[in-house]
Amino acid sequence: MQDQPAPKKVEIPLFPRGKRIAVTTSWDDGLVFDRRIVEAFNAWGLKGTFNLNSRSLTRTGKPAPMEGKGHLDACEVADLYAGHEVAIHMATHPQPLLLTPIQLAAEVLEDRQALEDLVGYPVRGMAYPFGRYNRAFIDLLRAMGIVYSRTTETTPNCFPVDEPLAWPATMHMFANSPAPLPQRWETYYGNPRQNGLFFVWGHSYEFDRADCWDRLETLLAPLAGKPDVWYCTNIELWDYHAARQRLVVGANRRTAFNPSALAVTVNVDGQLVDVPPGQVVALAPPASA
Ligand SMILES: [Zn+2]
Repeated sequence: MQDQPAPKKVEIPLFPRGKRIAVTTSWDDGLVFDRRIVEAFNAWGLKGTFNLNSRSLTRTGKPAPMEGKGHLDACEVADLYAGHEVAIHMATHPQPLLLTPIQLAAEVLEDRQALEDLVGYPVRGMAYPFGRYNRAFIDLLRAMGIVYSRTTETTPNCFPVDEPLAWPATMHMFANSPAPLPQRWETYYGNPRQNGLFFVWGHSYEFDRADCWDRLETLLAPLAGKPDVWYCTNIELWDYHAARQRLVVGANRRTAFNPSALAVTVNVDGQLVDVPPGQVVALAPPASA
C-alpha cells in the first residue's frame, strides 16, 4: 500500500457529494396554509422544516377546514409533512423569556413527545417562539437533546455557526434588504465561488394575510432544480455536519474512517469519494493523476 503515492490533497466538503450550496427552509406555527407550501415544495423538490405547537393542533380526527384559517389537525401531521421535517416550537407558543426553567423544560418536553407520537421519529429540531432565547435556555435545550434552534435573526453566512442553538437564517421570505427574493438568491447562486447555506424562513399564513399566494412561486420556485444544490431539511443539514466533523482522515492521507451512520463525501485530489458509514476506505490519487 505504501508503494502507491498518497493523495496530495484530501478535503471534506461542507455538503454531500460536494454540492456547492445547500438550501433549506423553516416555517412556523403549523396553520392550514402549510398545505400549500408542502404541495408546492413537493412539486419543485424543495424541503421544509415545520415548527409546530402541539397543543395548538386541533384533535378532531379529521383535517382542519381551510376556510377556518386555523391550526392543522393532529391527524394530518404525519402524512402532510412526510419527506420534510417536523420540529418543535414549544407546546403553547409561549414567550420563553417569561417562563421559569421548569416551565421551559415542560413546554419543550411536551411538544417533543406529542410531535414524536404523531410523526414516528425522534424530533430534535426547534425554532424559538417569538425568536426569544438566552444562554440559560440554550443550555437547557442542549441538555434535552435539541440539536439546533432557529432564531429570527439573519446573516449572510448562516452555516456552519458555532452555536446551532442560536441559529440565524439567511433571510425572512419577505425581507427586502439587501435585496428581495428571488434576486437575493440569484446573486448568491450566481457567484461561482459561493459555498454555503441559503436559508429562508417564514410563516405560510403571511401569504394569506398579505393575499399574495402568487408570490410563493415567484419567490421560492427559482431556488429549486439546481444540480449543484443540496435540498435538505434543517436536521439533515446538522446531522450531515456532525457526521462530517467525526470523519477521520489519516495523517498520511491514505485512509479515511467514517465512525458515523451517514456516508460522508471526501474530495481526493479533485475526485469525490463517498466514505460509507462504519468503514475504512483507502484514499488514492485518481488514476489519471
Ligand atoms: Zn411562532
